[in-house]
Amino acid sequence: MKYDRIWNFNAGPAAVPLEVLEYIHENWFNYQNTGMNIMEWSHRSKEYDAIHNDTVSMVKKLFELGDEYHVLFLQGGASLQFAMMPMNFLLEGKTADYINTGSWSTKAIKEAKLFGNVNIAFDGNEVNFMRLPKQHELKLTENAAYVHITSNNTIKGTQFLEFPDTGNVPIVSDMSSDIFSHRFDTSPFAMIYAGAQKNLGPSGVTLVIIRDDLLQTARGGLTTMLNYHTHVEKNSLYNTCNTFGIFFMNRVLHWLDDMGGLDAMEARNRRKADMLYGFMDDNADFYRGPVDKDSRSWMNVCMRLPSEDLEAKFVAEGKTAGFNGLKGHRSVGGIRVSMYNAIPPEAIEDLLVFMKEFMGKNR
Ligand SMILES: *Cc1c(COP(=O)(O)O)cnc(C)c1O
Repeated sequence: MKYDRIWNFNAGPAAVPLEVLEYIHENWFNYQNTGMNIMEWSHRSKEYDAIHNDTVSMVKKLFELGDEYHVLFLQGGASLQFAMMPMNFLLEGKTADYINTGSWSTKAIKEAKLFGNVNIAFDGNEVNFMRLPKQHELKLTENAAYVHITSNNTIKGTQFLEFPDTGNVPIVSDMSSDIFSHRFDTSPFAMIYAGAQKNLGPSGVTLVIIRDDLLQTARGGLTTMLNYHTHVEKNSLYNTCNTFGIFFMNRVLHWLDDMGGLDAMEARNRRKADMLYGFMDDNADFYRGPVDKDSRSWMNVCMRLPSEDLEAKFVAEGKTAGFNGLKGHRSVGGIRVSMYNAIPPEAIEDLLVFMKEFMGKNR
């Protein structure tokens, strides 16, 4: 392959588009004739400022967001949002509903409980996180502050491709591992956040989108850096933001747009999922998908082989054949193929050739 690269199925940090790496490489020593690498420019320079504001515009363009949404670039990962969000928005006397669909939701719940009342609207533990809730299973609170969901469960391999109906209660979603992977109606969402290292570029920057009506409910008296108002008022430039990470995200968003935007990304991701799950279903005695079919993730495909020995062999031989990152998360075992936006369908075609051969030799 070009530059002797391999296919990277890591769950995060994860593959980034080759075209973006090439652009950054071309501009490494002298960004667009400014004479410097972009990371050497001040976060208050006009050179950087243009990128910063364009990144806000690109997020708004791709999600078709109106002026009521604020776009922020923060640090501390999605994990800091688990705490910062309830710290700001889970007020005394209110309850927040959390839909627990896996390890990341569980972590978000743990943090929210430090700040106020939490109602577990669905406890995925009862189904071993192998499926998402049906609408009628949700025990939602009337007038809840918000309903928190994890749109894609990176570790267990489930994904909401359609979202729960929460009535008038705003939805807050951790979209770290599937942001911009398909088109959906953003209007029920009062907040979306995502660590960048799966679908947006390198680690170290968190994209946060907040609707103004939610922002206006924020608790007063918070420390400056953990108060969303600070970052909204200063356009994420209160302190030194992750300029290089935001620049990288900017290029990923332009790549996505040039590829045809969310509709094209959805078609590409659906095609990859159809290929891989289709093959698994045809060979379910060897490549078993543990997740319920209608909860399957397009981003993280989990599978079990007939034995743990075969799984270890699959990972090792896969690596030799040029496929990296096939090992399942240490908490669940098995195999996991993470195929975010940057992974082209050709990678899955190549993987299927390997999977067929492996099955032929080991069945
Ligand atoms: C990776 C991941 C996180 C953790 O993100 P950090 O940026 O490392 O804090 C949170 N939620 C989901 C769904 C993830 O996939």
